[in-house]
Amino acid sequence: MSTGAAGSGRASLARYIGRFAPSPTGDLHIGSLVAAIGSHLEARRQGGLWRLRIEDIDALRNVPGAAERIVEMLRRLGFVWDGEIELQSRHREAHDRALAALDRAGHLFACACTRRTIAAAGADDGCCVADCRSRRLPRDGNALRFRMPEDGRALRWSDRLQGLQQAEPACYRDVVVRRRDGLIAYQLAVVVDDAALGVTDVVRGADLLGSTPWQLGLQQVLGLPTPQYAHLPLIVEPDGSKLGKSRRSLPVAGLKPAAALGAAMTLLRHTPPPDHQDWPVARFWSWAIEHWDPVRLRGLREVRLGG
Ligand code: GLU
Repeated sequence: MSTGAAGSGRASLARYIGRFAPSPTGDLHIGSLVAAIGSHLEARRQGGLWRLRIEDIDALRNVPGAAERIVEMLRRLGFVWDGEIELQSRHREAHDRALAALDRAGHLFACACTRRTIAAAGADDGCCVADCRSRRLPRDGNALRFRMPEDGRALRWSDRLQGLQQAEPACYRDVVVRRRDGLIAYQLAVVVDDAALGVTDVVRGADLLGSTPWQLGLQQVLGLPTPQYAHLPLIVEPDGSKLGKSRRSLPVAGLKPAAALGAAMTLLRHTPPPDHQDWPVARFWSWAIEHWDPVRLRGLREVRLGG
């Protein structure tokens, strides 16, 4: 879709730009399909654009061929994105410029803590445990952390689905933005890339609810606009535990396209007509766009499979 507001004669040019940003660390599974559907339907409902960005900067976790398989699966399921597919790994220069800007703003410091020293200190995964902030360590060979702003603005936001969020300051200590191995971390890359695409609305899984304060903090210090956030319920096992690997891909890969979409829509509290499994995907999407009602998901933090 490349028309939208202007093409349909509506006056508003402040248009909605949404996106789906999978990491190619495995195939599309029921959890990521839910994020793809929710972000896509919301963009279409709002007459906006829906962009696709493959978040492939974590070279160690990328699975060869996964990006191609995700794109192929999205095509098979009838998703239509606007513009070219973005590859996050092509944006290293922009990420580096943002690092330099954080540095100029006095919000960057080197940290020598490793997984092992953090675990030995019994601290939360990811925390600095050696007060590296005040140690002026060399940048090379160490991770770089973002010093969170202290005014607390980044800890509070109104999520379009999950309501008013107030994060605990103790949980939002300085986060790694460039790893020891030189790779840019997700928190920084996602903020820079969303701003570059002009994303106005982020619709994604509630597993990323906890990342949002860091992203708000980075936007604040970098002077980037903050999109609206809407976190969809997380899909979990019937007993509430994290989705197991074997269950993750099952409902997507083995089903007819409309049946896979229907299964995901059912998890998102929508009931497709009984014969939808045999529909061509285009018919399914017309139905879904017409019936999409995100209000049903308000305050819903998780959905249990089979529940
Ligand atoms: N790449 C992230 C993931 O696959 C999603 C990033 C986002 O939506 O902000 O979990």
